[in-house]
Amino acid sequence: MDGATLTKTAPVLILLGPPGAGKGTQARMLEERFGLVQLSTGDLLRAAVAAGTDAGKEAKSVMESGGLVSDGIVLAILKDRLAEPDCAKGVVLDGFPRTTVQAEALDALLKASQQQIDAAISLEVVDAQMVTRISGRFTCGSCGEGYHDTFKAPKTLGICDNCGGTDMKRRADDNAETVISRLDAYHTQTAPLITYYDQKGVLKKIDAMGDINDIAKALAEIVAPVTV
Ligand code: AMP
Repeated sequence: MDGATLTKTAPVLILLGPPGAGKGTQARMLEERFGLVQLSTGDLLRAAVAAGTDAGKEAKSVMESGGLVSDGIVLAILKDRLAEPDCAKGVVLDGFPRTTVQAEALDALLKASQQQIDAAISLEVVDAQMVTRISGRFTCGSCGEGYHDTFKAPKTLGICDNCGGTDMKRRADDNAETVISRLDAYHTQTAPLITYYDQKGVLKKIDAMGDINDIAKALAEIVAPVTV
């Protein structure tokens, strides 16, 4: 992999955790607070599906089944995004890497730009509660603010607190059946990365079952020192 714009000093953070752990929510908060770029391969793949690109066509059915899209497609999409100039500010990787092949490709990419991973943060959650968390979630189609039927409903039903938008969206793969496959994919293919990053000395774990703001605070304590 080459062509990335990451600079030697740009922070690189990885959020690990099963679907529903809150990676997207927390990555957005880190983006706002620390001026980093949230880089979600799930978002990039959904955009490719919506645009009907060749990669999107191939990814669509895999995503609907809750499996993992091929490493080749994901790495190509990630590399293109990393080459955009804003990534020079530093990135929060959300949903990537998800396999050892992806983790090794990321290492090679970072090595080429004399860059390193500042922290791989595992959001620790109770699996059994992820189905409820995911089944109730939706986002504002205009600004991307995340909501939940039970845990974070908008103040006025159907209207975004953040931007006033009314186009609320639910993901096609946020249903109980697909979530079980996604959790399974996480445990078999992604969870081994916890050991991978532990062995590299960059792993941090935080309890991600509590209040969103408390989790953000715990994350900020890890992120603040690497963004100065
Ligand atoms: P997410 O938005 O991170 O929950 O991802 C939604 C779906 O996109 C996943 O269930 C996978 O099918 C696919 N996906 C996202 N990121 C990756 C990745 N790094 N590797 C393989 N598949 C991915």
